[in-house]
Amino acid sequence: MQRIALLGLGIMGSGMASNWLRKGFPLTVYNRTRSKAEPFAAKDARIADTPREAAQDADIIVAMVTDDDASREVWLGENGALANAKAGAIIVESSTISPDWTRELANRVEAQGCFYLDVPVTGSKAAASDGNLVLFVGGEASTLEQARPALEAISRQINHVGEIGMGATWKLINNMQLAVQIVAVSEALALAEKAGFNLQQASQLIVNSAASSPFVQGKMPRLIQHDFGDTEFSLSNMLKDTRYALKVGEQLGVPLGAVEAASEVFRRASEQGHGDEDVAAVIAGVNA
Ligand code: NAP
Repeated sequence: MQRIALLGLGIMGSGMASNWLRKGFPLTVYNRTRSKAEPFAAKDARIADTPREAAQDADIIVAMVTDDDASREVWLGENGALANAKAGAIIVESSTISPDWTRELANRVEAQGCFYLDVPVTGSKAAASDGNLVLFVGGEASTLEQARPALEAISRQINHVGEIGMGATWKLINNMQLAVQIVAVSEALALAEKAGFNLQQASQLIVNSAASSPFVQGKMPRLIQHDFGDTEFSLSNMLKDTRYALKVGEQLGVPLGAVEAASEVFRRASEQGHGDEDVAAVIAGVNA
């Protein structure tokens, strides 16, 4: 079986690790905060102190960290994984990062005789721990075929969307819609409350209307109860995604006014200290 190294055991990485272990893949894990890695030793994972150490002898090295800066750190930092990746290893970036950085990283990977796939994911905490993620893959079909057994172990659907960078781009196109939706619903609830509607009833009217979506349905209880704890997807990560999407819009000359407005509401909520809370805390940014 292919040996996997995973860099990043946050909300998503820890679920992915559990599935690889459950399905018998030899796994080495690295997390910046080592205490989050310790529980995986009992599940037979090897724990590495650095990304560089984790990369040793791995067939597939996967990163699942916050953003471009974190990705740069784990791959190319002082103890980065790439310098120690063996020739022919497959480098998989699953973090939601910018297409620019994805392509820059891919060039470094290929210069070193390794193969690259961008594989951002959708589905949140539960999908990660249940092995039910949906993947958007950018890269060569032949590389995807080599990585397929490992990717199938964490997902229910693998979508090959194009060349390197297209996975990252599609992920931003996906999430910018979610960002706009949740801000629109937050504003609808704020207006409904001010206009004197019963919030419970208003939430049911929304959830059962054509304006709803699985994402809105899932977040509605949190939105009306202002329950932002036990984060499934952090507000700061969604703010990051809107900013990366806006950059792509600018580069391609596509105005993204609705995304810009949504990003501003996320920024306000983040400035109020809601960054580490669940994305539903964006409702706190509506009247700020
Ligand atoms: P998370 O729980 O905040 O985990 C972030 C991970 O990145 C942690 O392991 C953290 O290490 C690590 N990290 C951050 N900065 C670092 C640095 N400079 N150097 C090394 N490691 C660093 O986030 P998550 O929810 O798992 O999300 C991970 C990625 O998946 C993000 O790009 C996010 O946008 C994307 N995503 C999330 C979801 C979701 O629903 N949660 C769904 C799809 C995609 P520490 O433990 O040391 O802080």
